[in-house]
This record gives sequence, structure tokens and C-alpha cells, in this order.
Amino acid sequence: MKKNLITIFQIFILGNLLFLMSCKDEPKPEQGAIDHLALGNPSNATTNESNANNYLMVLPQYVMSYNNSKGHANWVSWQLDNSWLGQTPRQDNFRSNTALPVSFYRVTSTDYSGSGFDRGHLCPSADRTKSIDDNSATFFMTNMIPQAPRNNQNTWASLEDYTRSLISPTFEAYIIAGVYGTGGTGSNGSTNSLQNGKIDVPARTWKIIVLLPVGNDDAKRVTTSTRVIAVDMPNSQNIDLDWRVYRTSVDAIEQVTGYDFLSNVSTSIQSVIESKVDNQ
Ligand code: MN
Ligand code: MN
Repeated sequence: MKKNLITIFQIFILGNLLFLMSCKDEPKPEQGAIDHLALGNPSNATTNESNANNYLMVLPQYVMSYNNSKGHANWVSWQLDNSWLGQTPRQDNFRSNTALPVSFYRVTSTDYSGSGFDRGHLCPSADRTKSIDDNSATFFMTNMIPQAPRNNQNTWASLEDYTRSLISPTFEAYIIAGVYGTGGTGSNGSTNSLQNGKIDVPARTWKIIVLLPVGNDDAKRVTTSTRVIAVDMPNSQNIDLDWRVYRTSVDAIEQVTGYDFLSNVSTSIQSVIESKVDNQ
């Protein structure tokens, strides 16, 4: 009887050990540790305060290059997969980002008021709906650009919706969104800046979307047949409603911005995928 008890006990211990060993191989959700710059840092932004116009800000939800002279980001980069998508409602808590160095101008939630431009998200609210913290992070004014309402609410928004429709348990994306040029046309007409020049109004909004099967070591999994969508659209009320007419190549956006996108991908693969224009 005593011998049987020991055997049952031994089987119990062995079972637990096997269970623990199998858990070790399970992929763990590491959302906070995701490298939003896995495919590269397009402008070599740094966290040095003196680099005020290409200032790297790293959040768990996205990473950006901030431009203090312009009062908005140069670009925002984020990874998107199903683990970021949940039921959290839009928080609408637009606010200054107090994480900016004190020497920087902090755009306030009302700085765009009456300008005829929307507080347009670069990383969309709807891409960060897993938690209140994640959604709130998209409402820092550092993630906003003065965006023509017709661009923000229609063309840009429909590309955001389309991108989310491509995300599934088996597909993820890396997205980089940004701006260049000065002078946009909002609902009150054209202007170069807001708040007496503290906030530059960009002329163009662009976005690059890289679609990958879910997996690890992402830069190494980009191939010459990886789908890449790149768009470059006017920050204007005259914008076409169809984002597809603004498709372009990554090379073209590199040329106008001076950035190098997807720099962690081998140069031979970059040269193929960056010269194509998506037509799916
Ligand atoms: Mn928007
Ligand atoms: Mn490149």
C-alpha cells in the first residue's frame, strides 16, 4: 500500500514537470516588449534632447521621431497584430505629452481649435483597443498632426480600416506613418502653421504598411514577395476619397523625406520591394 502511494506521488510529480516543460515552449505574449522598430529607424532618431527635431520617443504602444520645431512627429512606427485589438472604447483624452523635455514646446489639446484642421492620429486609436492604457497612449498630442478633415475622416481613415481588415490570427503588420512639406488646406482654407508658427501644417501625409505572416525575427522574414503598401496623399480638403489613387513606392517616399525605410531588411530585398507599387 505504501509502495503504491509513492508510485502515484512520483507520477504526479513527473506529470507536473512535463507540464512545466511544455509551458516553456509556449509563445508568451510580450506586447510591452515588442520592437516597433524591428524593420528599422527611418531617420536614425535618438533620445538626445539636443536632437530636438529628430527626437526618439519610445512607448510600449508605438515609437516616434518628434520634431520640436514643427510641433508634431516626423513619423510614428508601430507593429499591429491581433494582440493589440480588443473592446476598449475610444478614450478621447487628447492631452499634452509631459514626457517631452521641458525645453520643448508642448502642444495642448486645444491648440488646433478653430483652425479648420483635425487632431489627426498617426498611430490610430482603433489600432490600440486592448486596454485603456494602450488606447490613451494614442491621444497624446505628440501623436497628432493638423490634418485636413477630409483626409483624416475619409481617405486616411479608410486605409486604416483596410489595414486592420488584413490583420488576423495569422497576419501581422509593421506600419510607419508620417508627414513632409509645409502648407495644408483645411476647412477654413490654406495655411502653413498654427499658434503663431509653433505648429507646422504638413503638406503631405504618407504611410508604409508591411504585411507579414505572424512569426519572430521579422526583418529576416521580409522577402521580395512581401506585400508593401505605400501611400503619399495631400493634406487637403481637395483630396480624393479613394486611398488607392495615392499608392506609390517606398523609394518615392524615401526620396521626398530623405529617410531610409526598412533598413534592417537586406539591401537586395529592399531594392526589390521598395521600387514596387502595390496593386492588389
Ligand atoms: Mn484619424
Ligand atoms: Mn530603404
